[in-house]
Amino acid sequence: MSNPSFNAFDMAQSQFDNIAEMLDLDQATRDLLRTPMREYHFNIPIRMDDGNMKIFRGFRVQHNDARGPGKGGVRFHPMETIDTVRALSMWMTWKTAAVDIPLGGSKGGIICDPHNLSLNEQEQLCRGWVRQIARNVGPVMDIPAPDVMTNAQHMLWMLDEFEVIHGGRYPGFITGKPVGVGGSLGRKEATGYGVIITLREMLKELEIRPMDTTASIQGFGNVAQHAIELYHQLGGKTVCVACWDQKDQKSYSFKRATGVNLEELRQITNSFGGIDKSKAKNIGYEVLDGDDWLKQDVDILIPAALENQITMENVGFIGGSVKIIVEGANGPTEPGADQIIKERGIHMIPDLIANAGGVTCSYFEQVQNNMNYYWPRDEVLSKLDAKMTASYIAVSDLARKKHLYMRDAAYVIAIGRVAQASKDRGWI
Ligand code: NAD
Repeated sequence: MSNPSFNAFDMAQSQFDNIAEMLDLDQATRDLLRTPMREYHFNIPIRMDDGNMKIFRGFRVQHNDARGPGKGGVRFHPMETIDTVRALSMWMTWKTAAVDIPLGGSKGGIICDPHNLSLNEQEQLCRGWVRQIARNVGPVMDIPAPDVMTNAQHMLWMLDEFEVIHGGRYPGFITGKPVGVGGSLGRKEATGYGVIITLREMLKELEIRPMDTTASIQGFGNVAQHAIELYHQLGGKTVCVACWDQKDQKSYSFKRATGVNLEELRQITNSFGGIDKSKAKNIGYEVLDGDDWLKQDVDILIPAALENQITMENVGFIGGSVKIIVEGANGPTEPGADQIIKERGIHMIPDLIANAGGVTCSYFEQVQNNMNYYWPRDEVLSKLDAKMTASYIAVSDLARKKHLYMRDAAYVIAIGRVAQASKDRGWI
C-alpha cells in the first residue's frame, strides 16, 4: 500500500501462474483458482458523531471454499483497495491449505482510518459492515477475523450485529473474539508465536541456537510484539523495530544495540502499534529512517507490518549478516526483491506458513465454539505448536527433496490441495 503503483493482486496472480506451470494445471483449474469465486462491494452509511452522514466503502472477497468455509480477516485501512483484498483472500486459501486446516480463503476490508474515528463511529462501521454482508457470511459459509487495525472489540460488535440479524447465538461466525465471549485463550499471541515456532524449526535444521542470534523486525503491532515475546523467551535478541508514525505519515526504525526491551516499548506504544518517538529517545533508543531496520547487522529479519515492504528499491539494504527472513506479514516481499533474496541464498520462511498461526488458532477457536467447551491456554498453544511444526517440516522436506525455494514448496503443497478438493467436488 505504500507504493501506489504496486498491485498485490497482480503479484498474487503471478505467484499462482508460476506454480500452475510447475504443477502443469489444466486451463479450467487455472481459471477457477486465479480469480475469486465471489466478491461483494458495498456502501456503509454511518452517522458520525458530529451528526453528519458519511459513506464508507466495504468489501468481502471469497476466493475459494472447496476445502471448507471461507476464512479471513477484516482490515481497516485508508489505502485499502479491492485488489489488495482479492490478493489477501487468495493468500488465505493457500494458507489454510498449506497448514491443512479444513477452511477456504476470504478477506474483507473497509476504506477508513480508525485513527480519526471515535469508538462509537468504529462500532457503527463494524455493525454496518455486517448488515451489508450478513446473508453471505456465517459459521458454515465464511468466517471473518481481525486483521490490520481491527481487534477483539471490533469482532464482538460484528458478532453482536450478526446475532441480532439472525436471532440466535452464533459464536462460530467470527474469530478473534474476546476471551469470555467465545474467544480462545492463546489467539492474541498465536500469529506472532507461530512466526517464531517456524523460525525455531529452521534454526534447528541449520544447527543454530536461538540464543546466538539477533533479529530486526518491521512492525510493532499484534504480530510483531508476540513474535518478539517468544523469540526473547527462546533467548534471541531483537536490536531494532520499525513502525508507522501517524503524525509524520512516515515510518521510523527504533534501535538499541544492546537489545530492545519489549515491556518498556509497549508502555510507549499506542493501540495501533505506533511507538512514541520522543519517549523512545528519552529511554535510550536511536530513532532512524523507516527502512533502516533492513540495514542492521543481524541474523534474522522479520517483516511483520504490511505487504510490499521489501522492494527492488530497498532490498539492497539487507546486510551481509542476514541468514533468515521470516514473513510475519502477508506478502511483504515484492517478487523482484524475492528473486534477489533467493539468489543471495538467504533462507526464506514464506508468509503462507510463517504467519499461519493466527488462522490455525482461529480454527481452534471455532472448534471450541462448536463444542461450547473451552481449552486451557497451554492446550491451545501446544496444539498450535504441533500444527505449525508439522506444516514447517512438510514444506521444508519438499523443498529439500525437489530442490525448491521454500516459498515455491509451500505453494506447491497448498495449490495442489485446493486443486484436488475442487476436482473431487466436480468443479473442474
Ligand atoms: P497491527 O495493525 O497490529 O500492526 C501493524 C504494525 O505495522 C504497526 O506497528 C504499524 O505501526 C506498523 N506499520 C504499518 N505501516 C507501516 C509502514 N509503512 N512501515 C513500517 N511499519 C508500519 O497489525 P498486525 O495484526 O500485527 O498485522 C501485521 C501483518 O501481519 C499484516 O500484514 C497482517 O495481514 C499480517 N497478519 C496478521 C495476523 C493477525 O492475527 N493479526 C495473522 C496473519 C497475518
